Order: sequence, then structure tokens, then C-alpha cells
Amino acid sequence: MREIGHFIGGKPVAGTSGKFGDIHNPAAGEVTAKVALANPAEVNAAVAAASAAWPAWAATPPLRRARVMFKLQDLLNRDRKEMAAIITEEHGKVLSDADGEVQRGLEVVEFACGIPHLLKGEFTDMVGTGIDAWSIRQPLGVVAGITPFNFPLMVPLWMIPVALACGNCFILKPSEKDPSVALKLAALLKEAGLPDGVFNVVQGAREAVEAIIAHPGIAAISFVGSTAIAETIYKGGTSQGKRVQALGGAKNHLVVMPDADLDDAVDALMGSAYGAAGERCMAVSVAVAVGSAGDALVSKLAPKVRALKIAPGVDPEAEMGPLVTREHLAKVSGYVDLGVREGASLVVDGRGLKLQGYENGFFMGGCLFDNVTTDMRIYKEEIFGPVLSVVRAPDIATATRMINEHEYGNGVALFTNDGGTARDFTAQIQIGMVGINVPIPVPMSFHSFGGWKHSLFGDHHVYGMEGVRFYTKYKAVTQRWTGGAKKGPEFVMPVLGR
Ligand code: NAD
Repeated sequence: MREIGHFIGGKPVAGTSGKFGDIHNPAAGEVTAKVALANPAEVNAAVAAASAAWPAWAATPPLRRARVMFKLQDLLNRDRKEMAAIITEEHGKVLSDADGEVQRGLEVVEFACGIPHLLKGEFTDMVGTGIDAWSIRQPLGVVAGITPFNFPLMVPLWMIPVALACGNCFILKPSEKDPSVALKLAALLKEAGLPDGVFNVVQGAREAVEAIIAHPGIAAISFVGSTAIAETIYKGGTSQGKRVQALGGAKNHLVVMPDADLDDAVDALMGSAYGAAGERCMAVSVAVAVGSAGDALVSKLAPKVRALKIAPGVDPEAEMGPLVTREHLAKVSGYVDLGVREGASLVVDGRGLKLQGYENGFFMGGCLFDNVTTDMRIYKEEIFGPVLSVVRAPDIATATRMINEHEYGNGVALFTNDGGTARDFTAQIQIGMVGINVPIPVPMSFHSFGGWKHSLFGDHHVYGMEGVRFYTKYKAVTQRWTGGAKKGPEFVMPVLGR
């Protein structure tokens, strides 16, 4: 059985803990490899390698660091098909979607190529006579990223290019469900000219994460995953004096107004609810039909959900692949059972789907609920599968209130042809990322990604300028070389004489 190990100090390193997790091909339902699960000693080794590399990397001019990013961009483009194939093999998502994941990660590398410009500080000539002042942003040191299974390349790339370009060393703890693409990224960073030790991969699960939180040599943690873990990591990390941004789960609504183009809204719902089998933090899992929109919406959606092309991700015809593990499939099916018990109308039932030749695969069909109400658990909780709930609302005010009262605040979309409605909604909605006639409003790399409420713990969103702020410390310098009368000691606050 193939063993997937770590990448420490510029080279692959086999696991030494003796503990392993299973890696599956979700379409076949078979175990294909074993991943090493790091213990604290292995985390220590990665921190030691990163700490040793940090002084030289921090002292490398930003332009040289940017050149590594330019080279990485070339290499990611060169090997994008191979990377997409690795993602599909372990995650299950369809190949075209995996390629989209590579592209959205690559765009953060493109952003980081501009780091010399982005790190320029502010300068004031003569804050006093002969005194100048400026600000600079300096790297934090060794930082860590802990990432989820659903975007095994894109989410690490939300963090790594910005952190490295800012002059930090990085330790990635990928998801133990689909860890291989992280090792490919490590190899590409090395080929791009990144010095050994600047980027390290430590495979593992809870024990490795706890060692990262406790390690005094790690200055900051970026986490993306489910809300309960995000909150634990935020509290644990900040109590150790670390800077932490911890992105959590989501329940994203798409509001359909009666004046919206219904066909556009239906297409948007299909792609965003069932793409990647609903395993996206920006997946739409609730359609809010306002006023008269409901019946027409459900009658247009139902046949399309039944007609979804479900197949292994490598099939070029596939629109939706399997779920990531057997346990996750059971959890999602359990939520469909629960919705029926709670009294929602199950319009399309995708439970129990078996694909010929892939009977052991973790497949389920698309599910569609109508008449879901806000007191139901299938409305309140994140299901993270191909299950769309339709909720009826009499007007936009009710829809807005419902969304604002929800625990999560990652993304939201409004489909309408009324600019005034769109403008008011954008202003009033308590959600971090808003799409108007755009179903999955994932910001481009030169903006920043993040939710509100229980979808993000911390003060900074990821990538873009928020990423630069997160991965740097601000320093203000005031300097005098000449000028000004020598006055002897002054015991009052320095002020500019009137
Ligand atoms: P998860 O929380 O189970 O795992 C995320 C990471 O935490 C993994 O690296 C995992 O090894 C680690 N981990 C798991 N259990 C842990 C524990 N008890 N203690 C310490 N570390 C632990 O999440 P997942 O199932 O891999 O990913 C799906 C979740 O991620 C969903 O909730 C989804 O909404 C969320 N997500 C959010 C965003 C966002 O931007 N807000 C993006 C992608 C995914």
C-alpha cells in the first residue's frame, strides 16, 4: 500500500509516528493509500526546519520572493492537468471542477507576484523639522495553515503565496482525506527556487493540529474547516498569543425575487447547489423563493435535479461525482431522512443511488426539499452535500431577516432585475460575500475572501490585501538625522511647536 508522508526541510520524509489514515478513491469506494499522521515530534521537526530557514527568507528582497511566485505560476500552469487528476482521484469532484480549483488557486499566486508593490509602506517627509516618518510591514516568522478536504489545493493556495511572498515560512497541515496534492505543490515550490525549509507539509489530524496550536515557534495560524473546529482553533491559538484567522462552515442562501429571470436563477441554483456534490463552503443550500416565485421555481428545478449526470469525476460527461467518504455519505443521507421526519416535502430523493460498475462508490443523487421552515435542523445546520432546501418568504424584508438571523454568514446571492432592491439588500445583509445575479460570489484574488458570524473567527479575511495584513506586522518609524535645535531632555509628549 502506497504511503503518503511529509515534506520537511526541502525533502519528502516518511512518517515515524506509526499512525496512518486511509485514503480512498471515492468513486470506487476503495482504499488506495495510507497517509502518515504526524505526532508532536514531527511537527517540531517541521518548525525547526522553518525557523532555521526564516532569517534568510525574511531578508530576501521582495522582488526575489516575487520571482519565485512567477516561476510557481508557470509550473502550476505546466502541471495543472496532473494536479486536477490528483484532486479528482482523492476528493471525487469532476475533472473540469478540479481544473477550476487549480485556476482559482493560481490566481492567488498571480496576486502574490505583485508583492514588491503591495509591501510599499507610507512615507511622510518632515513630520517635524528634520524628522521623517514611515511605516513598513514585516513578516511574522513561521506560520501554519490547516485546511479542509473540499479544496485540497485552492484553500492552501489562499494562504501560501501571500504568506511566503510577505517573507514568512509556512507549515501546511492538509486534510487527511486528500493529502497528495499538497506534496505536489511542495515539489513545485522547490522547483520554483524556494529555499529548503521555507515551505513544509506535515500530514496528520487532531494530534498534529494540537501540536501546531501549542508550539511556541509558530506565530500565526490560518484555518479553514468546520465551525466547531474553527472556534476551538481560534480560542486555542489566540490564548497562546498567536494571530489566528479561522474560517468555518456555511449555509448560503440564494434569494429569488418574483422579477428575476427564473431560468437564470434555476441554472445558478443547479450549479451552485449540486456542483462538487454540494461540498463547497460557497455552495448554495437554501433557495429563498419570494412571493409568487416559489411554485414556478420548484417545478423548473425538479426535472433538472432528476436529470443530473452523476458519474465518477474522471468521466468527461459527469456533472456531479461522489461524496468524499462513506461516513460523509451516511451523514448527508441522514440529513435527508431527518428533513422528511421534520415535515419538509422531499420533491426529489437521491438517497440510495447505485452506479453500475461503481456499486461501492460514495454516490448519492441530488435531493430537493420544498416547504422547508426556519425551525428545521435541515435549515439551521450545514449538510455539505447535494441537498437544496426551498424556503418560501412573503417579501424581501422577511428573506433578509431570515438570512441575518442565521448562525452562518459566508455567502449570499440575490437574483432580481431591480437595482434598488439589490442595493438595499447589499447594504442590509449580514453576510461577508454578496452576489447580485451571481450565485457563488467567491472574490477574485485581488479582493479578499471571508464570511461573517460563525463563518469566520478572527479579524482578517484571506488573500488579497487582507492576507498581506494578516501575514505582516506593521512598524512605524520616526527618524531624525539633522535639523532642529538641541534642547536637552524634554519631559512632555513630543509635539510639533505651534
Ligand atoms: P474539518 O473541520 O473536519 O477539518 C478541517 C481541518 O481540521 C482538517 O485539516 C482536519 O484534519 C482538522 N481537524 C478535524 N478535526 C479536528 C479536531 N478535532 N481537532 C483539530 N483539528 C481537526 O472540515 P472538513 O470536513 O475537512 O471540511 C468541510 C468544512 O470546511 C465545511 O464545514 C465547510 O463549510 C468548511 N469550509 C469552509 C470554508 C470557508 O471559506 N469558510 C472553505 C472550505 C471549507
